[in-house]
Amino acid sequence: MKNWKARAAELYDGSFRPMFIDGQWCEARSGETITAYNPADGSVLATVPKGGAADIDAAVSAARKAFEGPWSRFTPFERQALLLRIADRFEAEWDTLCLSDTLDMGMPIQRTLGNSRRVLGMLRYYAGQAVAIHGETIPNSFPGEIYSMTVREPVGVVGSIIPWNAPIAGSIWKIAPALATGCTTVLKPSEEASLTVLMIARIMQEAGLPDGVLNIVTGYGADAGAALAAHPGVDKIVFTGSTATGQAIARGATGNLKRVSLELGGKSPVIVCRDADIDKAVPIAAMSVFANSGQICIAGSRLFVAREIHDEFLGRVADYAQNLRIGHGIEETTEIGPIISARQADRIAGYLDTARREGAEVLAGGSRAEGSELNGGHFFQPTIFGGVTDQMTVAREEIFGPVISAMPFDTLDEVVERANATPYGLAAGVFSTHLGTAHKLAHRLKAGSVWVNMYHAIDPAVPFGGVKMSGYGREGGREHVEEYLDTKAIWINA
Ligand code: NAD
Repeated sequence: MKNWKARAAELYDGSFRPMFIDGQWCEARSGETITAYNPADGSVLATVPKGGAADIDAAVSAARKAFEGPWSRFTPFERQALLLRIADRFEAEWDTLCLSDTLDMGMPIQRTLGNSRRVLGMLRYYAGQAVAIHGETIPNSFPGEIYSMTVREPVGVVGSIIPWNAPIAGSIWKIAPALATGCTTVLKPSEEASLTVLMIARIMQEAGLPDGVLNIVTGYGADAGAALAAHPGVDKIVFTGSTATGQAIARGATGNLKRVSLELGGKSPVIVCRDADIDKAVPIAAMSVFANSGQICIAGSRLFVAREIHDEFLGRVADYAQNLRIGHGIEETTEIGPIISARQADRIAGYLDTARREGAEVLAGGSRAEGSELNGGHFFQPTIFGGVTDQMTVAREEIFGPVISAMPFDTLDEVVERANATPYGLAAGVFSTHLGTAHKLAHRLKAGSVWVNMYHAIDPAVPFGGVKMSGYGREGGREHVEEYLDTKAIWINA
């Protein structure tokens, strides 16, 4: 057991943490700051610059200068070596990174620590990709000695905007492919959780990242975020966040027709068939939503259960939910941490009221979690609603809190139709021991990822992303690298 509390006091003492532009640690040009609170108890961790359009301008200029200057002369093997050095430094400082994330956004430390395979894997996977980027020589229809070939070139300056719910993985999944492909980055973290992202920049700088290759501008979305999305000097925007913000960003990006990738929200179905292995399915279905207190884009928040096993299954999920330990993320036994902010907590509370008013039945939880040890934070009991219909608000809208809406189903055709009847298409889960059923559902569900007899598997080598209003573009795998590359055709008349 690490002494997390003592280390927390050393890590953040309320002081100012500068942002990172052109290799320099700086204030906002306005001199204004944002206060970073610990969502578990409301204490002040630090202040960060309230960056705005002028800071975004400076960061984009620095990123352009680096892209056209020293960074463009790095060979793929040098970029690979840099990524591997960064990965080693991350590994050495992993505990501190996780502690920072837990303090800044509340994710239980047991969960942040457990993300190391994925995050270190991302850095090392993209290190491998850096030396595997190449074009092709293509035969053509011209007579004579006319040769045609393609080369792959970095897109240029990438603007990255991320939410607060997973700052380490969220930022690495934007920065690592940029480093692998030779792009430069201006990253705006969420105003709710900037501290770990600043720590990440410090680690990368110490690992030898040249000035301007990565720039971090802290600030609000409507201000720094909108300025980045609309900036004419940015060649591509990669965004993770809500669907409404994604729409605003796509509109903002039209000025210079910059390329856009969007990883947006979801209302993902989990389907438990009558032949499911119930012992296996109960904890996975529960944690598909309750992990990170429901603040996960892929939350399997619509739980469809075959009518034959519906009551038994929900009884067991409710028991599981009631035994989850709620508390400060810094306690190693905590499974359900705080909600990020009062605003977000009020939103969740509103959904709980609406569900009751619309006739849903509380099978577990149903309200805020109280207790002297939870004072100052915003905590919710893991909640399961039964008796939900497809039309109810909690079955249609993304809640981003620990709330499952459970519904029975009778046939596979019916459940596929209902599961797909949403504007979203991020993820889906299927529980069945019948191979044919698993295949049938996996192929017919409209989602970017479908997990069978598991959930939540995300890997650096496997593409992840949404369809429909959950966005477009993929993170992970070769497709992700493609997002950061342009193709140039070269013709030679020999
Ligand atoms: P959000 O959309 O409010 O904010 C995300 C980021 O966008 C923040 O950095 C914010 O400052 C910025 N922003 C806000 N308004 C902006 C604007 N007008 N222009 C430019 N930037 C702006 O989302 P959130 O509340 O931070 O995160 C929760 C949402 O993120 C949920 O909908 C969740 O599903 C989604 N999410 C999706 C994925 C995925 O991979 N698909 C992963 C995590 C979270």
